[in-house]
Amino acid sequence: MSGLLELDGLTRRYGDLTALDGLSFSVPSGRVVGFLGPNGAGKTTTMRAIFGLTDLDSGSVRWNGAPVRPADRRRFGYMPEERGLYPSMLVGEQLEYLGRLHGLSRSDAEAATGVWLERLGVAERAGSKVDTLSHGNQQRVQLAAALVHEPELLVLDEPLSGLDPTGIDDIGAVLVERARAGCCVLFSSHQLDLVEDLCETVTIIDHGRLVAAGTVDELATAGARRLVVRVEGDREAGWAVGLPGVAISEVDGGEVRLVLEEHVDSQTVLAAAMAVGRVTEFSFARRRLSEVFREALG
Ligand code: ATP
Repeated sequence: MSGLLELDGLTRRYGDLTALDGLSFSVPSGRVVGFLGPNGAGKTTTMRAIFGLTDLDSGSVRWNGAPVRPADRRRFGYMPEERGLYPSMLVGEQLEYLGRLHGLSRSDAEAATGVWLERLGVAERAGSKVDTLSHGNQQRVQLAAALVHEPELLVLDEPLSGLDPTGIDDIGAVLVERARAGCCVLFSSHQLDLVEDLCETVTIIDHGRLVAAGTVDELATAGARRLVVRVEGDREAGWAVGLPGVAISEVDGGEVRLVLEEHVDSQTVLAAAMAVGRVTEFSFARRRLSEVFREALG
């Protein structure tokens, strides 16, 4: 299985508001791509555009180099933000029904339903109505619904929101496994630490425009040098305030993260820290995805 989703110049206006503003990026197979942006950035609108659920003012969505056709969409899987399961239908019946809608035979749909409910840890709920399940279990069923027909492209709108740590691990493992199997996986999330663990690649948008994209490694190591410093007994990092060419990016539980301008000698920072106490940590650091995100948004 392999494929390539390309979004090219997507523009969507709602009256005076431009929800998507010439947005272009691609999702290659074999990777989990994290889709990030603040509230209202245009993530859901983009996902809806991939499925033809919103009209575009301009731009195009291509699958393997050609405009997406309805037949292609049958090989896509979507977990929408407003979870779309029928509340009073039985879980197993519903998945089989969705599998058949996507072109599976009755027996294949039954088999795939069994496999995915088992894999997502909700096999014992196959005979329950969806609305009797907990939020997390509904989420697992919703992911199974997006997967039941073995899609080549998987698009998930905040699949990790509201899950407990086990649910996050289970769903995260399935996303990585699907990518390894050759699926294109695009998912949105506001949980940047999780995205950092799960994704090789991220795309960050704001006001419907691309503001950063690349592998997590590239983004984490690009740009200015960063230092992590800890001084015994110091929680405020007052010593770092006003150091020339040094900005404080985060103070967390006694650990201070600093961004150094190019000309700054790190030894002067060390000397300033040692002047107030015993330095217990002093190391160069990668940027966290949360820092990449904040900087990309200016
Ligand atoms: P969130 O992280 O909050 O889910 P998002 O990145 O998914 O946000 P969208 O839901 O795509 O953002 O919304 C992008 C912008 O488009 C927002 O300003 C939103 O209010 C606007 N918008 C979306 N759908 C409509 C609509 N049907 N009519 C008018 N405005 C809309």
